[in-house]
Amino acid sequence: MRESAPVIQVLDESTVHLIAAGEVVDRPVSIVKELVENAIDAASSRITVELSTAHGMITRIRITDDGVGIPSSEVSIAFLAHATSKIRTGDDLLSCRTLGFRGEALASIAAVSYVTMVTKPKESETAIRFRITGGEVVECTETGAPNGTSITVEEVFFNTPARRKFLKSLQTEVAHITSLLESFACLYPDITFRYLVNGIEKFSTHGGSDLSDIFRALYPSDAGMMIPIRGEDGNTLVTGLVSLPKLVKQNRQRFLIAVNGRLVQAPAMISAVKRAYGSLIPGNVWPVAVLMLEIPPAEVDANIHPTKREVRFSAERKILDLLVRTVRRALDDADLLDLPAGMDEDAQISLSDIPSPAPAPVRYGTITAAPVARQVCEATLAGYRTTSRQLLQSRLQESADAAAVRDERFPELFWIGQVGGTYIVASDKTGALFLIDQHAAHERVRYDQLKQQESLHLKTQELIAPVVLTLSPSEAGFIPSVLPVLTDEGFIIEPFGQDTWCVRGVPVVLGRYEDPETVRELIGTILSEDEGPVRLKERVLRLVSCRSAVKAGAVLTPEQGMDIITQLSQTADPWTCPHGRPTIISFSSQELGKMFKRV
Ligand code: ADP
Ligand code: MG
Repeated sequence: MRESAPVIQVLDESTVHLIAAGEVVDRPVSIVKELVENAIDAASSRITVELSTAHGMITRIRITDDGVGIPSSEVSIAFLAHATSKIRTGDDLLSCRTLGFRGEALASIAAVSYVTMVTKPKESETAIRFRITGGEVVECTETGAPNGTSITVEEVFFNTPARRKFLKSLQTEVAHITSLLESFACLYPDITFRYLVNGIEKFSTHGGSDLSDIFRALYPSDAGMMIPIRGEDGNTLVTGLVSLPKLVKQNRQRFLIAVNGRLVQAPAMISAVKRAYGSLIPGNVWPVAVLMLEIPPAEVDANIHPTKREVRFSAERKILDLLVRTVRRALDDADLLDLPAGMDEDAQISLSDIPSPAPAPVRYGTITAAPVARQVCEATLAGYRTTSRQLLQSRLQESADAAAVRDERFPELFWIGQVGGTYIVASDKTGALFLIDQHAAHERVRYDQLKQQESLHLKTQELIAPVVLTLSPSEAGFIPSVLPVLTDEGFIIEPFGQDTWCVRGVPVVLGRYEDPETVRELIGTILSEDEGPVRLKERVLRLVSCRSAVKAGAVLTPEQGMDIITQLSQTADPWTCPHGRPTIISFSSQELGKMFKRV
């Protein structure tokens, strides 16, 4: 019990700053984000980000730009809370095109770390060197320096030990920064970015490239599966890249959305894009996307979140409709490879597997060219192509029908035949017609059988030929935290040079399916997870069920077909395969009657 009421006091200024800082800079990655945004706002054409690490921590962040610099008389003002050159009044928010405008970043960063800024506008003869530690100015002197600004941040969170404790592992923090910088590189292809960790260059881009070039160089194995999008509605424009349905990720890490150049989290837009894919992709995965929206600033409110991660739109419906239309049209126009959704594990050849010989605007130093192989492959694939319009329409129809079937109990079916070596044709006593995707159905059966096995011991089987993986820096950044899980599950993975890893062994349940692509895809999926224990076992289960299921194109005897139907009827969720695709579609006798204009 309190004896008397606590005394209410106004907090001193430094404590207020410290509290406010927490909203803007909660992790090293948010410091990098704010400082890179400042460099972009300063019209820089070159931005270099350097990290130093020691003892499991990021010890120094340095960002150097060649932008407009800060006049000597304004340097100390820039570090005051709410000091900004970007707006003057609330009305300016309606036309604000810069990434910053709240004037909080420098003040917040200076409140929780030691900052050294050297800055020189091109009009000034000399530069200013300004040091501020935990909010106290300790140096402000003239010095020589090139045009632009360099900010060095050290002793991050030195006075907020609780925050320091909450930081994840060094690898995770660095991986977040890497992935943020990859995003900036995609969104600002005009700017030359250089990124170094402990003096080693992780990547660098050449300003003046376009998004596709940057994307190809950053993510060589995904780039061949991306298609450009462009759509307009009045003064709203969306451009960017989205993946073909066969390229999906287990999380949204590769789903970039930028509104007027600002990276935002916009769940409604992600849902809109997913809607555009319809049932081309399963519900629990996300396409890869870079969406760049240009919307008149007056129609966007970026001032609803301290880090401006979330934004609000006055014409949200219009924007979402534009997104759905634009993505759907791009998918419609693209040639999709046969069997897109969830079938990426069916050992299809993909153009992206063959490294592109195009000159890379980003240097990773690992891309090898194989133009001849690429041409041969392109020619081969042409034979397997089917137009996406047909596929999309049939898929949308299938999913609608699957939903209709889903509410009912599994019918008692009898065999009629098989079409296209792919679909089982069956009927029931009411005279309804059923089409069953034999591969999807059998996959569901296998999956359930595997799940029911009490102990699926994942032991190691050495690969005949080791598989070499070249990872993007952000993927490689996740390896150390994911490696123990992978090893537990039976993988043998060893370092093989910078950002390159060698897989020598895989879990024995993969049996003879030690196809390098399976291994690459599996590991790639795992590395796209950025936190917590990965669902590796689930992933392996799905792969094994897919691999051991009867393939599309295999001719079935009536007995084999009925076996699949009976086993499917006994599974927990007979209506979809483990990837979420429908296994069965139906037409009631009434629907058939209607189609023939009998009723
Ligand atoms: P904001 O970006 O919201 O204006 P900041 O605290 O990030 O607020 O920066 C304060 C001001 O300092 C900016 O408005 C800008 O005038 C100046 N500034 C910060 N970083 C740079 C930079 N790299 N180059 C030039 N000016 C900068
Ligand atoms: Mg700023």
